[in-house]
Amino acid sequence: MSGNHATGDDMVVAHRVHKQFGHVEVLKDVSFTVRRGEVLCLIGPSGSGKSTLLRCVNHLEAPTSGWISVNGEYMGYRRRGLHLHEQRTADICRLRSRVGLVFQAFNLFPHMTALANIMEAPVGVKGDRKQDAERHAMELLDRVGLAEKAKRHPKQLSGGEQQRVAIARALAMRPDLMLFDEPTSALDPELVGEVLDVMRDLARDGMTMMVATHEMGFAADVADSVMFMERGSIVDVGTPNEILINPRNERARRFVNNVS
Ligand code: ADP
Ligand code: MG
Repeated sequence: MSGNHATGDDMVVAHRVHKQFGHVEVLKDVSFTVRRGEVLCLIGPSGSGKSTLLRCVNHLEAPTSGWISVNGEYMGYRRRGLHLHEQRTADICRLRSRVGLVFQAFNLFPHMTALANIMEAPVGVKGDRKQDAERHAMELLDRVGLAEKAKRHPKQLSGGEQQRVAIARALAMRPDLMLFDEPTSALDPELVGEVLDVMRDLARDGMTMMVATHEMGFAADVADSVMFMERGSIVDVGTPNEILINPRNERARRFVNNVS
């Protein structure tokens, strides 16, 4: 990170982010940078703050102090002189539409087809023309390997297929950044691979991604950097080799050995 500001190459900059729920400090002085086109994997035990951090990046939560910028726009709180400025709601909505989020549980609209799920936000939120949204949605379904299942409802799809639709749905807003929060944790083991393959393709195409995951093989393969968190703090951040393959940090080593 260059000083106190995001530069043109930086997609996400977190600067001294703290998050408290009541008296509990869930994020402690978290700072990191994700450059354009990079993949950052977040690993760490359950409760270490990975989801909260992703929610702060998407402004579903506001940091208690510190700030986060996404694509040069500041979210949360940023100290300017003596004042803390909060982004206006309109800004937050616009910023959020530039960030795609895929959760652990497939949260598709159950009463809509795969195609309609993907078209919903571009038409409903962005005001795209139906024809254009449909053409784009079909391209995205093709990209995640589900073109022939466009008219199916979520319950007619496997968990892996539903999660691939959820990824296509997030991509429909043409995000600058994709956030994944344990996207394969709820899947049967035999369905994990197809979702990771879609994510791998996305990374190869240059999408900037932050991925909370327990899939160490995927992280080792795809991540540019891996961040190991414990109890709200960053314990270590480095290359997959430094964190996962030959962990230089004793706690990271123990965690990685237990998970894989
Ligand atoms: P992870 O995703 O790494 O499992 P989380 O970010 O979900 O970690 O949670 C970090 C800590 O924050 C946990 O102790 C959790 O109980 C707490 N936490 C998360 N969300 C809330 C909330 N809305 N209110 C109170 N505590 C929360
Ligand atoms: Mg979590």
